[in-house]
Amino acid sequence: MNAPRILVISPNWIGDAVMAQPLLRLLRAAHPAHAIDVLAPPAVSPVWRQMAEVDEVLETPFRHGALQLRERWKYARLLRRRGYDQAYVLPNTIKYALIPWLAGIQRRVGYKGESRHGLINVMHHDETPPRPMVAFYAALAGAPVAAQDPAARAALPRPRLVASAAQIAAVCARTGIDPARPLVAFAPGAEFGGAKRWPARHFAGLGQAILANGPSTQIALLGSPKDKQACAEVAAGMPAGAAVFNLAGATSLAEAIALIAHASAVVANDSGLLHIASALNRPVVALYGPTDPDHAPPFSDLAASISLRLDCSPCRQRECPLGHQNCMVQMEPELVWHSLRPMLA
Ligand code: SF4
Repeated sequence: MNAPRILVISPNWIGDAVMAQPLLRLLRAAHPAHAIDVLAPPAVSPVWRQMAEVDEVLETPFRHGALQLRERWKYARLLRRRGYDQAYVLPNTIKYALIPWLAGIQRRVGYKGESRHGLINVMHHDETPPRPMVAFYAALAGAPVAAQDPAARAALPRPRLVASAAQIAAVCARTGIDPARPLVAFAPGAEFGGAKRWPARHFAGLGQAILANGPSTQIALLGSPKDKQACAEVAAGMPAGAAVFNLAGATSLAEAIALIAHASAVVANDSGLLHIASALNRPVVALYGPTDPDHAPPFSDLAASISLRLDCSPCRQRECPLGHQNCMVQMEPELVWHSLRPMLA
């Protein structure tokens, strides 16, 4: 007889997927005989492949934002044949809750979200203020409760990803990064919007301080194709001849994960790559402007969260409604260097 299977439906954001990893650890511990599969968008699936608890990653064939009812119904029929007996629906939308319902999966766990009565039959409700993201997802492993026990919340496992030595060696060889020299990774992008981005000239100023302190250090600029311009501006502000690798849009997400796993330290905006660095337990400096540094903090053993905590922060807007983005502009490179320097010692 085949092993019973659990289906986890992934959030659509990389950082959220990372912060859902403790849920998988709890599910693995509670259901040791089950296989755990994850259904994820192609842009997020590489993150799940770096999690030891996942048996198989299935990629969603749906277009972002589209309901595609017929396609969901067809896909649900495929899932029905795989024999899942429970599903954990991490996105809050109806369209993702439809899939396990159409697939006839008996136990369908999730938050109420878009009033998903019936589609979700083990329904959780969030607290006010909202739970931190790790606690939000991890709560789905247990029975619905009105308020999480603070001690249990504090004892939750941290998100953890793994990257193999072979993955690291392969990406170093392909990009020309010398694995024997120190590497600092910058993540100057932020998919959510421009307000979250520390200015390129500040990243460049920090890079200059790193290189003055350790001339053999290499700096990798990581990001998606959308971050090419921001990374090009950072690279343009670096000293000529410095070992700066502008890799925005030039690596797969799996390769970026491997480079981060190899880095001595990572400096990142509040973005998916920040949470990847944290889950790989790399020393990380996290830069927060319009978002709350306490909502999704880094979990590395060595981590610093920097936020100027202006009166207008956190506004949680994609672009600065005041037009000046002072939460990031006034965060000088010296302030970040002060946190980063001891990590490189
Ligand atoms: S309103 Fe304040 S917190 Fe929001 S982006 Fe502008 S400066 Fe930053």
